[in-house]
Amino acid sequence: MEDRTYDCLIVGAGPAGLTAAVYLTRFRRSVAVVDTGASRASRIPRSHNVPGFADGVTGPEILRRHVEQAGVFGVHARRAEVETLATHDEGFTCLSMDENGGRAAIQARTVLLATGVQDNEPAMPELAEAISAGLIRICPVCDAFEAIDDDIAVLGDGPGAVAEAVFLRTYSDRVRLLLTDGAQCLSPDDRERLASRGIGIVEEQIAALVRQDDERMIVRTAGGERLSYDTIYAALGTRARSGLAAQLGAELDAACEAVVVDKHQRASVPGLWAAGDVASSLNQIAVAWGHAAVAATDIHNHLRGG
Ligand SMILES: Cc1cc2nc3c(=O)[nH]c(=O)nc-3n(C[C@H](O)[C@H](O)[C@H](O)COP(=O)(O)OP(=O)(O)OC[C@H]3O[C@@H](n4cnc5c(N)ncnc54)[C@H](O)[C@@H]3O)c2cc1C
Repeated sequence: MEDRTYDCLIVGAGPAGLTAAVYLTRFRRSVAVVDTGASRASRIPRSHNVPGFADGVTGPEILRRHVEQAGVFGVHARRAEVETLATHDEGFTCLSMDENGGRAAIQARTVLLATGVQDNEPAMPELAEAISAGLIRICPVCDAFEAIDDDIAVLGDGPGAVAEAVFLRTYSDRVRLLLTDGAQCLSPDDRERLASRGIGIVEEQIAALVRQDDERMIVRTAGGERLSYDTIYAALGTRARSGLAAQLGAELDAACEAVVVDKHQRASVPGLWAAGDVASSLNQIAVAWGHAAVAATDIHNHLRGG
């Protein structure tokens, strides 16, 4: 156990956590940042909607710049996983474990959770390569503009996949739905929505997804059909990494388990804030930055008794 108490413990060093760290240190607050190194941003091949980058920017480059800027203010994330968080009269105690099994305890007056979400991924070989080549995409808000007029498939089940296929019709008139649960899970209303927009349905079970070089995605159906697409959107949803908030009894969204926050990013547990994907349904870097600025300013005002 360190014998100091930080003003704020930030769990997560993605765009939300590191933005908050810069704000807080510039408010002259002491922060400890703990991170497992699995930011979703590290998987972005090239983003064209991050403000300020006319030619686009890769996810690793965004993170590199965040780390560099945090370093200017003396913030260096510790590579470890926060396993438990508990409250006491003075604030919070967290227990973390690093890659070598080393354990540490950190005390803080406040905690900001910036732990992001985990993507539910399609089962296929070479998934990382397919994402890197834009053959598998995860977020139409992020990059459907780059798929204009492509031959697009949407992989998923239920209303979420239907909604994503309908969203993508703005970008291409060649959109098809591949159903992980088979076509029987579609309601008559869903079928009508798809048909009225010219979105085809692959009725057979999907047997395999295969990357063909960096050019096309091949889909094999259980019946032996071979289909080919420019890109496949995986509409399989995400899981919020909100387990630490749950440990503290904070309110979570019933549907997606995101941390429920107020307009200052405060969670329902006093002293706890959440920012970025873990507290949002619009999982975007610009949103994470905005959340972090709001949360950090509110944390500072709270600590100075304002
Ligand atoms: C393929 C892909 C493409 C994308 N394209 C775009 C795009 O073009 N534009 C855009 O705006 N967004 C895009 N996104 C989304 C964007 O990456 C996220 O919105 C953004 O990274 C969210 O930032 P965050 O800080 O909230 O979470 P993250 O960046 O995910 O960071 C969370 C951090 O918390 C750490 N962590 C989690 N739990 C613990 C724990 N218990 N202890 C310690 N550390 C922990 C993780 O290791 C991680 O480093 C894309 C995402 C993907 C996957």
